[in-house]
Amino acid sequence: MSTISENLRVVEEGITSACVTAGRPRNSVQLIAVSKTMSNELIAEAITAGLIHFGENKVQEITAKQPAFHGQIRWHLIGHLQSNKAKKALPCCHLLHTLDSVELGRQVDRISGELGIKTRALLQVNISNDDAKYGLSPEDTAATLTELSNKHSQYLEIIGLMTIPVFEEDLEKTRRHFAHLRELRDHLAVSTGLPLPELSMGMSHDYQIAIEEGATLVRVGTSI
Ligand SMILES: *Cc1c(COP(=O)(O)O)cnc(C)c1O
Repeated sequence: MSTISENLRVVEEGITSACVTAGRPRNSVQLIAVSKTMSNELIAEAITAGLIHFGENKVQEITAKQPAFHGQIRWHLIGHLQSNKAKKALPCCHLLHTLDSVELGRQVDRISGELGIKTRALLQVNISNDDAKYGLSPEDTAATLTELSNKHSQYLEIIGLMTIPVFEEDLEKTRRHFAHLRELRDHLAVSTGLPLPELSMGMSHDYQIAIEEGATLVRVGTSI
């Protein structure tokens, strides 16, 4: 068995057992393989092992890797999007995880309209209020969502929230950050009437507790 398919089997078991613990169906969680350091050969191996959803931090990496795979991959942009890259990024992006300002959202809406596409996105929230460079503060998220909701954006659809919490030695602290993102989502869904079904949270070391706290999209790199 190749290393990737063996690693994938372990991650798959981890996802399944977290789903059982949480009493959630396995198909409520989508694994996104983070391929930011993977060569095309390794990505091809991962596709053979059954993966379709891949995450990249950089637009250039998606546009460079994409032609080799002829539409076999659904690309997730999980790194910061600079507005001058939006035109290149949006056509190849299955889901944008890192919308973090009204200004960027307006640009994404406008450019999607020009391209004749719809763009689905998540609002990135700096849930642990650390000094991370990117992400909305939890307090600003409601206003941003209202400003960018369907009434104002024809081509942009916000379908949930994403977070990268500050690293904690203690996984129970990380769990609290994940729970806060879920609570924020629940609160926003009620106050705005938008369904916001997706929660992108959890990486190699904490995807199981993320699933226990409601993650629907886990972004796993190192473990695969
Ligand atoms: C690299 C990266 C991941 C994957 O992290 P691992 O610890 O390698 O699983 C997930 N999310 C984002 C935003 C990343 O940049």
